[in-house]
Amino acid sequence: MGMSKSYRIGVIKGDGIGPEIIDEAIKVLDAVSVAQGFNLKYEEFLLGGSAIDATGVPLPDETIKGVKTCDAVLFGAIGGPKWDNLERHLRPETGLLGLRKEMGTFANLRPATVYDELVNASTLKASVIKGVDIMVVRELTGGIYFGEPRELNENMAFNTMVYSRGEVERIAKVAFEIAMKREKRICSVDKANVLEVSQFWREIVEKMSLNYPEVELTHMYVDNAAMQLIRSPKQFDVILTGNIFGDILSDAASMLSGSIGLLPSASTGRGVGLFEPIHGSAPDIAGQGIANPLATISSASMMLRYALEENGASDKIDDAIKKALQDGYRTGDLGDFDAKEIVSCSQMGDIIADYSSK
Ligand code: NAD
Repeated sequence: MGMSKSYRIGVIKGDGIGPEIIDEAIKVLDAVSVAQGFNLKYEEFLLGGSAIDATGVPLPDETIKGVKTCDAVLFGAIGGPKWDNLERHLRPETGLLGLRKEMGTFANLRPATVYDELVNASTLKASVIKGVDIMVVRELTGGIYFGEPRELNENMAFNTMVYSRGEVERIAKVAFEIAMKREKRICSVDKANVLEVSQFWREIVEKMSLNYPEVELTHMYVDNAAMQLIRSPKQFDVILTGNIFGDILSDAASMLSGSIGLLPSASTGRGVGLFEPIHGSAPDIAGQGIANPLATISSASMMLRYALEENGASDKIDDAIKKALQDGYRTGDLGDFDAKEIVSCSQMGDIIADYSSK
């Protein structure tokens, strides 16, 4: 028998419900890794409010150095009223933006999945959203949010949407690789009828598609895409798009599923990937043991799949979440939707750990 594989996971619990939801994700990771025969070693780092309290800054150097030595980083959430009145450069959110930049995570992956058991949790009709399973691949470190020149003065203001060939190629590659593991369909979203930068984007994505003959590539203008996401979201498999369009479309897509407590995300790029729920630190419910840990547990599953390529373990977790929902277990935030039993944060962690290790 060979030695089992071992991975180093950076863990950032953060503030508010962060520690509670991360503890449940680790409980699940421990169970599934034992069952699947690999090892996980955890190393904790500080970020956000808890880092400010301990060290005076939201992103300590130790965190920056430490995460770069890990195979992947699992993150809860940061922020809270206690730190809201600090100067901008000392605020928790500044620490998170700095961390993402340091890690060079140019690809943001946001799945929007609608669980059958929760079709009634959405604001859209069940018939429209049942079976939705979309992956939004958003470029995260370029485009109009970062483009130079930029200016704001008394008489005018402008920003610049810039993409280099390399930037488009690397995000397109991420999308094609993901599509190969899914239904092999990509819809690239742009505004090529108006913007040169989008024509450039489209041409590069077309060229990349020659390397992936099995993947069906279509293009859509962003205004139409916004409409189609609400009208008939099941038509999409992978959506590939730039920074600002992806910002808006991924938020719209996330609301198809109806609950913020369910949705994971991954930011990957040059090196180490960052895996985190899309919600914040929920200070209003922190410390009560009622937070929904499923978004964080799903993020841990994405970490296994996209950073460690432990696809079997990732499938186990995804199936366990579906089974728990089928069996009627709900945390309080989903209590109104066909619940058989309302469970606490840690009970939900126990259930997923149990199901995913079988
Ligand atoms: P939020 O996502 O923390 O909470 C919004 C609402 O959703 C709250 O009512 C909360 O109780 C609920 N909620 C969120 N996650 C939940 C879960 N897992 N289970 C059950 N209910 C859940 O957003 P907010 O209230 O706007 O922000 C709170 C703090 O979080 C702020 O300091 C904000 O800056 C920070 N924040 C951090 C991140 C991050 O760390 N990535 C993201 C967004 C907001």
